[in-house]
Amino acid sequence: MADIVLLGPPGSGKGTQAQLLLDSQPNLAHLSTGNILREAVKSSTKLGLEVKSLLDKGQLVSDELVNSLVFEWVNNHASKDILFDGFPRTGTQALAFHDFMQANNRAYKVIELDVPESELLDRIRKRCTCASCGYVDKVSDLKESKNNWVCPSCGSQEIVVRSDDREDIVKDRFLVYNSEVRSLREHLCGSFGGCFRINGVQEASKVYQDILDALEQVK
Ligand code: ADP
Repeated sequence: MADIVLLGPPGSGKGTQAQLLLDSQPNLAHLSTGNILREAVKSSTKLGLEVKSLLDKGQLVSDELVNSLVFEWVNNHASKDILFDGFPRTGTQALAFHDFMQANNRAYKVIELDVPESELLDRIRKRCTCASCGYVDKVSDLKESKNNWVCPSCGSQEIVVRSDDREDIVKDRFLVYNSEVRSLREHLCGSFGGCFRINGVQEASKVYQDILDALEQVK
């Protein structure tokens, strides 16, 4: 296995697919910049206080900050294969990432989940997060679910909606994603053949199988 970069807009299923990959690949370590930043906000660390208002508004944290956070994390997990989830996310991050990976002799493959925006909005309207363990779940109706939901992972009954999952903020996150995705693809996929676009509007297990098939194609 090589390192994997998982690309896709908010709501495209990156978290679900990341979990499926991690469950089946024991040497894979998960680097989710979103999770690291949210965790920092939750525990009010210096980093958390610095980035909270950006996260709440669905805006990006600075490239310098994220790059150094990620590169330090990779250095601390150098013996593992790494699943990059949410990074790189801008053209500038992609350039720095590519150079860093080359300098460290790390090969990577890129998987991009393709889902149309109408479907993404619908999914995000119906997703909630366990307040206790962070498990992300799909519900048919958020209001109704608040009273009778039980977390399949830890049994907690308290759900929260991510502060940046409000509809107006989600639309801003799509704008941010769309403004960067082309240069991301150029920087990550221009120079080699390890980039794959996967249809993300299928059962999660089928999406997962397509990812495995794609990863098999380039050794
Ligand atoms: P999404 O569901 O939008 O893909 P993530 O969980 O990956 O969300 O990220 C949540 C938030 O964390 C982003 O809206 C942004 O504020 C911040 N963030 C995460 N990754 C990055 C990154 N690589 N560069 C800048 N900001 C980031």
